[in-house]
Amino acid sequence: MTVEYLPVEGCEECEFFGTACPECIMYGETSVNKSDMIMDKAREMDWETALRLVNTAVDLHASRTAAHGQFSPEAVEKSAEIQAAWIRIQRG
Ligand SMILES: [Zn+2]
Repeated sequence: MTVEYLPVEGCEECEFFGTACPECIMYGETSVNKSDMIMDKAREMDWETALRLVNTAVDLHASRTAAHGQFSPEAVEKSAEIQAAWIRIQRG
């Protein structure tokens, strides 16, 4: 995976090369271009990994929703709805 560092504004060297210079990277002056990082990951990710990660996120969100609502009937229903949505998505 390649991580792209954005050129630091005001640094001549960064601006000349159109990317972060080693010095700025070393001193943490640069920010990572997150969307490029995400797109790189998405390109390289296989279906099973993606499924596993989304599954974890859905489980976490569903249990947090239930716990956040102190497991009231409404919170439990909302939590069930989140899990149902994921099952629905997997069905296509
Ligand atoms: Zn620089």
